[in-house]
Amino acid sequence: MRDLLRLGLSQGTSGNVSVRFGDGFLVTPSGIPAETLRPENIVAMTWEGEHSHPLSPSSEWRFHRDILAARPEIGAVVHAHPTYCTAFAICGREIPAVHYMIAAVGGPTIRCAPYAPYGTQELSTSALAALEGRTGCLLANHGMIACAIDLQKALWIAVEMEALCRQYAVALQVGAPVILSDAEIWRTVERFRSYGPRPQANNSEYLSPS
Ligand code: 13P
Ligand code: ZN
Repeated sequence: MRDLLRLGLSQGTSGNVSVRFGDGFLVTPSGIPAETLRPENIVAMTWEGEHSHPLSPSSEWRFHRDILAARPEIGAVVHAHPTYCTAFAICGREIPAVHYMIAAVGGPTIRCAPYAPYGTQELSTSALAALEGRTGCLLANHGMIACAIDLQKALWIAVEMEALCRQYAVALQVGAPVILSDAEIWRTVERFRSYGPRPQANNSEYLSPS
């Protein structure tokens, strides 16, 4: 949550974060600014949506729970209202393959889930559908969701989504953006699987324990 603030992806009490944990998940509390958040404020929830914390869980606990429950490969979910992602979401616009980095989100488009009021099961259902086969989506007139195996990677996807939307917004002002083919993006999704440091004896110090 502090990283979202530091990176300019969030403000005030907008946004929330969850991570798979034990027999359920941990989620940020509702309405507490990131600067004042303490580890003991984080709410542990069951898959049934129960908790025994004095603070209320994020109003968006339903989509955090539903994404983590439906997608076993996902360990962490980040939700925020960053300006460029949200600007496209306000216009209800899907993001096409304007840059090869869209492959980091898992495919040739970033879908925009239809509007539903914040905190509702309707929003969760619409977000889950928009995330099918992807690790990120926009939420109409609201913001975005990024998810990944862990919190660090989910934050990275959130950063890349905001960069992509910012580049696309500027490109629309510069001229007519050229859209890459689906085949090119699927090739890039495949190439990303072996991107970055590989686990070899002489570079193991650069790799995270996960
Ligand atoms: P919470 O403070 O309840 O997590 O809500 C913030 C938000 O972004 C709702 O969509
Ligand atoms: Zn929100």
